[in-house]
Amino acid sequence: MPGTVRVYELAKELEISNTELLHLLADLGETVKSHSSTLSAETAKQVREVAAPTKSNAAAKPDAAPAAPAATKAVEVIPGMTVRELAEAMGIGAPAIQKRLMGMRIMASVSQTLDIDVATEVAQKMGYVVTEGVRKAPKVERHAPASRKSNPISRPPVVTIMGHVDHGKTTLLDAIRETHVTDQEFGGITQHIGAYQVEWDGRRITFLDTPGHAAFTAMRARGAQVTDIVVLVVAADDGIMPQTVEAINHAKAAGVPIIVAVNKIDREDANPDRVLTQLTSYELLAEAYGGDTMTVNVSAKKRQNLDDLLTGILVVAEDLDLTGDPAATPTGVVIESQLDRGRGPIATVLVQQGILKVGDSIIAGEAYGRIKAMLDDKGQNIQKAGPSVPAVVLGLSQVPSAGDTMTVVKDDRTARQLAAEAGTIARAERISKRQRVTLADLRRQLTEGETKVLNAIIKADVDGSLEAVKQSLEQLSDAEVKIEFVHGGVGNIGQNDVLLARASGAVVIGFNVTVDPDARTMAQDESVDVRVYNIIYELIEDVRKAMLGQLEPVYEEISLGKAECRQVFRTPRGPVAGSYVLEGKITRSADARVLRGKAEVWKGRLQSLRHVKDDVREVLTGYECGILCDGFNDMQVGDIIESYEMKEVPRF
Ligand code: GDP
Repeated sequence: MPGTVRVYELAKELEISNTELLHLLADLGETVKSHSSTLSAETAKQVREVAAPTKSNAAAKPDAAPAAPAATKAVEVIPGMTVRELAEAMGIGAPAIQKRLMGMRIMASVSQTLDIDVATEVAQKMGYVVTEGVRKAPKVERHAPASRKSNPISRPPVVTIMGHVDHGKTTLLDAIRETHVTDQEFGGITQHIGAYQVEWDGRRITFLDTPGHAAFTAMRARGAQVTDIVVLVVAADDGIMPQTVEAINHAKAAGVPIIVAVNKIDREDANPDRVLTQLTSYELLAEAYGGDTMTVNVSAKKRQNLDDLLTGILVVAEDLDLTGDPAATPTGVVIESQLDRGRGPIATVLVQQGILKVGDSIIAGEAYGRIKAMLDDKGQNIQKAGPSVPAVVLGLSQVPSAGDTMTVVKDDRTARQLAAEAGTIARAERISKRQRVTLADLRRQLTEGETKVLNAIIKADVDGSLEAVKQSLEQLSDAEVKIEFVHGGVGNIGQNDVLLARASGAVVIGFNVTVDPDARTMAQDESVDVRVYNIIYELIEDVRKAMLGQLEPVYEEISLGKAECRQVFRTPRGPVAGSYVLEGKITRSADARVLRGKAEVWKGRLQSLRHVKDDVREVLTGYECGILCDGFNDMQVGDIIESYEMKEVPRF
């Protein structure tokens, strides 16, 4: 493209550093990824004007506004000018101004008018020489209102609301939905499909309407990251509570930016400042305190300042430079699903790339099918859905799970085939469940270069012991292994902890706490290493040993089943026990032993297991089979053959 230039080339030309140039670009509202990104001719021109005011480039810009002193950072502010107008006058993007305003604790939409003093201050802070002007005859807008960057592939941000119970997550979601849904055809009533979109300031925002971090982390544990921004709701009368801390850590573990909505400011006992102070303990320094965490005071109940919150979301989103390629093969994530009596399996899919269309052949987990129809969040039929759009999809063979990836494939046959393969892979994964970090395996993973950091979630009975455990563990960190605390909290180990551990490859360590029964089951199913201690010395010792590779796992024997030998067939390979399975199952690949009365007469592996004439992997209770024990020549009628396996004993 004529006139385009790379960041580093332009920096060299202007004799400034790459970083300085990136800052300059940010001020101009341009989000640039790296030093080698290409800038459009238009952007390069703007930068040259701003960065090199003394260099004569008047000749290079014959189309420059004649009124402005050529190529200086000067701006004329006019009473009643909107953010957008100021941005245009300054030749930069509106978000850059909105960001500055936020630093001054002013939340403004692009169409909001600015006080003359405020406009002056912003422009000056951004390095402009300001003069005051008067409003002239209204400008005639050309085709479209000066579209900043008609970037065809930017997409709406996807937002999840998190926070402590009763702090107002649901109320906030409902309030935003009721006040900002644009389609009034059905009285603005949206259907609950797991997500909805609102329009604000000419842009869209997608909200996932299952509040809470359990859903968020459950998705992430399945490899699906759909959230771009977390809105953390903190009640101003209650302050930061345990689940607030959990939510902060879940969002941080996922690397998702947090906007804090300080809620319930309508209450008499509301103390928003206290919330801001408390946040500082969790590395969230509010903008009001000079930090970069955006905070917005709201009342979900009284619907106050919701617009500010939406503006804040758009500003943060702008920084994230969210894109989705409409030309790509459509993919998405299932965020909700159910079996509908009339319509069969239905799933809400959040599209991430491409344009999903009715008639597409898709797979989602083990489900497949051709999209018969799609509905939006208002229950209306739609033909297509692009990036960040949630759509209910009809026509699947079965109900997929939340967190499953959806992909469009060539045709129905491919869909069916791939779904079957996905099923096999899922089953294999369920069986093998490797690659989780466990303390006992830490050393091996270290040697194989898989782990350099031991991610840990610590739960303790009281704050004091939590700190003690953390400090002692911190001292164990060395050059080889660093211990990172993904989350620390007071209370028993619950499902949320296990989910977070699963999602972030962490171990869960409890001190003087117990494990909730459902969390226990989940930990076993998900192969998450959960350990509980009552003596701090033992806890530290185990982690220390794990780091040295000296932590021996403790195994216990689990009996799988028993068979009785009822006949012995002599074969060239050895005596085959014609047996009958009495209980459980006999498994070809498991460990086995032969019992005669109470005495164990042989122990080892099976050489073969047959049912009728076929080699089989296992034989269940009530069936006959032929068993050949490897290297055992003394099989006798009446012997009991037992299948068993050694399983690591969970440490809770
Ligand atoms: P969640 O558990 O976080 O989803 O909280 P809810 O949305 O269910 O709200 C818990 C309670 O707080 C309900 O009784 C709400 O009516 C109330 N509530 C929520 N937002 C506000 C608010 O802004 N002001 C006041 N006064 N009450 C609120």
